[in-house]
Amino acid sequence: MLTRRNRRAAACLTAALLIPLTLTACTTESHARARTCLTGTLAYDHRDAEAGPAKPLVTRPARNANWELWGRTSGHSDAPGRKLATGITDSGSGRFRACAKEPGTLREAHVRFRSGSTDLWRVVRSRTSQQEYAFDSPSRRDVSADQSLGTVKVPAAMSNAWHITDTLNLLYWKRDNPTSACWTRRQVTGRCDQLTFVWTRREAAEGAGYFDLGGTNRVIAAGDMTDSEHFVLHEAGHWFQWQLYGRDLPDATNCDPHYIEKRSSGTCAWTEGFADATAAYVLGDHRYVDETGAETSLENDATTPGWDPGDEVQGRVGGSLLDLWAKDGPDGGSWNRTLRLMASEPSADFREYFTVDRPKASPPLSTTGSAEAIVGRHTISTR
Ligand SMILES: [Zn+2]
Repeated sequence: MLTRRNRRAAACLTAALLIPLTLTACTTESHARARTCLTGTLAYDHRDAEAGPAKPLVTRPARNANWELWGRTSGHSDAPGRKLATGITDSGSGRFRACAKEPGTLREAHVRFRSGSTDLWRVVRSRTSQQEYAFDSPSRRDVSADQSLGTVKVPAAMSNAWHITDTLNLLYWKRDNPTSACWTRRQVTGRCDQLTFVWTRREAAEGAGYFDLGGTNRVIAAGDMTDSEHFVLHEAGHWFQWQLYGRDLPDATNCDPHYIEKRSSGTCAWTEGFADATAAYVLGDHRYVDETGAETSLENDATTPGWDPGDEVQGRVGGSLLDLWAKDGPDGGSWNRTLRLMASEPSADFREYFTVDRPKASPPLSTTGSAEAIVGRHTISTR
């Protein structure tokens, strides 16, 4: 019977005979095997507001989350550890395989996890902090080859930071920027802008639950707010529109407070409606769910009770956008054409977006037929 190592070598040899190129891959493989690795799956708990007011506690893998491998090669317990490698967890399973670059036994090794994903987004500890939340896995001694840590759970006191980090994947995957890792097609500087969330356990005196436009340009969140993924993605949606517009947003008037079904202003309804639509689109529903698990439907028409009419109502704007972007809708089944348009043509409000800017898209986005019918159904006049 072949040992595992021999079996793999045999498979390698066969493959190499068939395709000489495979030899390189096999050589790399045998080097990789000699390296010292800690493996496992990173997971976090959160209260699931999207499931309703009961907010059941659920466990999810932390996907694309930052890890660092730390280790000590010396036998002295007071010798300093070194950062040996960095990476991110798997984009589906949350698994990690943290390997030292050089082969050899480590006297001590552990994995440090940070609440961010590469340099594209992160969750930090305060308004002024550059520091992500971080914690260390259990430590392993005298590690050579692979050692599994099993499932590593984020400590409860900081699990909301990983819930944010994990949820932001959903927006990132739909950002429609195929030629670059950056968030949008419009980057002001040569490098990708990083989305930063501030999360604190308690709400600070300045309040929380908003995108701090013109201040830190960070999203400020606290406590249980992040139980709602709609909240996280709505606030990220403000930052995303700000990015699409080249670090700019229309000045939203009469916007504090604002309500989904009530008249505010054209500029407020446009920015808030886009943020609501972003959250619903990314999560694949037509709702806004708040941190208590209460939901508001973004499906509405002239007969919906309690709703103001027109394009100064964010829920009318958000509902229209979702229908324009729907699978069988007039915009080709996604929001991609709107994102492309937004990155070249900022609009001050929904009226400008629909009547002035959609015709400028290439190819033009429709303003007649079913597109006109959609906004009309949401009580928005295009005349
Ligand atoms: Zn908002």
